[in-house]
This record gives sequence, structure tokens and C-alpha cells, in this order.
Amino acid sequence: MSSQNILFIAHVDESEGTLPNVAYEALGAALDVTKQLGGKLTIGLIGESLQAAADTLAGTGAPILGVSGADFAYPRYASDAAAVEAICRAAQPQIIIVPGTSRFLRVMPGVSHRLKGSVDTHITSIDLIDGALTAKRWFYRQRLEAVIQREARPWILVVDSGCHDAWAGATAPVKIQTIAVSLPADAKRTAFAGVRIPNRDRQTIRPHAKLLFVAGAGWCKKHADGKSHSSEAETIILDFLRGSGASLGGSKSLVDQSSENQAVLGFMTHLNQVGQTGSTPRHPKGLSTCCHGEEPHVVGWRFIKERRAINLDPNCGWARGKADVLYVADAFQVIAKLNSLLREKSSLKEDLVPSGGV
Ligand SMILES: Cc1cc2nc3c(=O)[nH]c(=O)nc-3n(C[C@H](O)[C@H](O)[C@H](O)COP(=O)(O)OP(=O)(O)OC[C@H]3O[C@@H](n4cnc5c(N)ncnc54)[C@H](O)[C@@H]3O)c2cc1C
Repeated sequence: MSSQNILFIAHVDESEGTLPNVAYEALGAALDVTKQLGGKLTIGLIGESLQAAADTLAGTGAPILGVSGADFAYPRYASDAAAVEAICRAAQPQIIIVPGTSRFLRVMPGVSHRLKGSVDTHITSIDLIDGALTAKRWFYRQRLEAVIQREARPWILVVDSGCHDAWAGATAPVKIQTIAVSLPADAKRTAFAGVRIPNRDRQTIRPHAKLLFVAGAGWCKKHADGKSHSSEAETIILDFLRGSGASLGGSKSLVDQSSENQAVLGFMTHLNQVGQTGSTPRHPKGLSTCCHGEEPHVVGWRFIKERRAINLDPNCGWARGKADVLYVADAFQVIAKLNSLLREKSSLKEDLVPSGGV
């Protein structure tokens, strides 16, 4: 097989000025592929200014091409597609690996068309099988896994987050080879107005959290006093999310109640639903609370590695091989206790901060 050019492209995160975490994960995949193919890796970067991000890639030893300037600061189809196309034409790659950010998911199919190549999105792994480059992705709500090989080149692979360990290496000053892209006026018709994000407390879905915390319908069920304690449940859960930084998932029963105006948790929406008709998030750990652990819910836990559950019922679904550990206990009490331990831990940390702060 002749030596292959592999191109990894990333864009600087508009708000942070650095590369998003998923870029380092996709870079890890690109480095593995380069090693397996015995190929040559080139890196392409896009953004307003690139130096800080480029320096974090010094340890790869790969040449870095960059398209920069105010025109490339924010996501916009016309300018992003022109920048990616220019980098690809300069590097002449057979394989192009990019992170699955919303910015790149939008432009890569168009770029692939311009380059007369092929593109596959939501890639979960890339390997060499019997000498052929092979990518995998899921279809039909994670029920079918496709194993893809293609003749077409260049082949663009858009890698999903949470599927590869993030690459980390030494930061050092590097030289960027600038590629000039001048945009025609019609590529600048769309102007970037700003970003609106919910405030931090309402932002309960956190894809990069180490822990997925799932709340089930049990949080709103009646207690021994004949009443539902949903406002207490809200306080306990929000405290836990704040203290632990976990991402919040919900069972279908609980999120459906929210839209039916029953006793509910105000911050729970259908976007939080995990399961067959919900999402299939990727987190290293999961903690299920007040949720029965029925199959249509637990299929959404496919990519959760270490699983624990708290349920009053020792015969719930989690006890049947679906969790590593089941605590048969009242979740109100267990999570309230966890919250006080988390508070102790964070006040201990504050006490240890030298005067003058950090
Ligand atoms: C086609 C189809 C698709 C579906 N898709 C999904 C899906 O995507 N996601 C999903 O979640 N469901 C889905 N379902 C529904 C699923 O089968 C279950 O009905 C649902 O997950 C049940 O939610 P739950 O466990 O929160 O509620 P329940 O079944 O009502 O369970 C509540 C649990 O809370 C426990 N509990 C109560 N109080 C406490 C307490 N104080 N402490 C600890 N434990 C307590 C109880 O013991 C009980 O086990 C689907 C069903 C179908 C047919």
C-alpha cells in the first residue's frame, strides 16, 4: 500500500479560544489511524486566531496548516466550507478525520461533495481490518452497528464525542503554515449575531460529565404521608447536580409527567430522556435513582460503563444484571446524605486554599 496522507482538522471553540475536548479525542483517533496505516499526519486549524490552540498540538510533531482571521471566528457554512476545502486541497489527503462538533457536522457533507469524496458522520471507531480502513457507526437508535469500508477518496470521517481517549501532549511554540482564503461577498452574507445559552443551573445536560445521574418517576410518587414530595426532590437533585457536576437524565415516565402537568421536577424536559425513544449518552459512570430499570430505559445505558442504582425495590430491573451495584434504599435519604458529604468536601477544599485565594 502506498503511503497515505491523513489530515486532521479542528476549529477553535468560538467562546473559549481553545480546541473543544472532542477535537483532542478525534486527534487521538487520527494518530492511531496514522500509525496503523504507516501514513503521514497533517493538522489543519480554523479560527480567528490559532496560535494558542496550535501550541497544544506541538507534541504530535505534525505540520500545521491554518486558516485564520475574523471571517473564520464563528460558525458559518460558506466560510467554514471554504476554509476546510482550502486546507484539504493543500494537504491532498486520502483520509480526513474531524471532530463531530455541530459546526463541522454542518459543513463536511458539502466539502466532501466539492472534493468528490465520501463522508461518514457519527463515527464511533476507526480501525484497520484485514488491511482495509474500517469505520463503525450506529443506526436505528443504536440498535444496528454498521461496519463501513469505502473505495472513495478522500474519505471524511466525522468522529462522535466520547468514543476515543483524548490525546494530550506537551505544549510548545509551533509554526503554522498559513493558507490564505479570500471569501467572495456572497460567502459573508450570514452574520453571526451571538450565542444564547441557558444559565448554568438550567444547563442540566452535560455531555462531558464523568457521571450520568438518572431520575425516575419514583421521585414524584406519594410517600407514607400520602403526599408527593416533588419540591423536596427538586432541591435534592439540583443540589446534587451542582455539587457533583453530573449530567441529568430522566426516565420516560418522569419526563412525560412533566408535560402532563402532574407533580413534576420543573427542570426535567424530554431532552433529558434516556432510553429506547430517548438518548444514549456516553459517560464513564451512571447512577440511577427512583427508576425501575425496565429494558426500554436501560438500552439507553449501552455506553455507560460503571452502573449503580438506588431503588426501594430489591426486585427492580437493576437487580437483574443491569447494574453493577444496587443500593436497596430510599433515594431521598441517600442523595441528601451524599449532598452533605459533597458540601463538606467542597468547604474542606475552600479551607485549604491559601489566603489570597487562587
Ligand atoms: C416503545 C417503548 C419505548 C420506551 N422508551 C423509553 C425510554 O426511552 N426511556 C424510558 O425511560 N422508558 C421508556 N419506555 C418506558 C419504560 O418501559 C418504563 O415504563 C419507564 O422507563 C419507567 O420509568 P420509571 O422507572 O421512572 O418509573 P416506574 O416504573 O414507575 O418506577 C419507579 C421506581 O421508583 C422506585 N422508587 C419509588 N420511590 C423511591 C424512593 N424513595 N427511593 C428509591 N426508589 C424509589 C420504585 O421502586 C420503582 O422501581 C418505553 C416503553 C416503550 C413501550
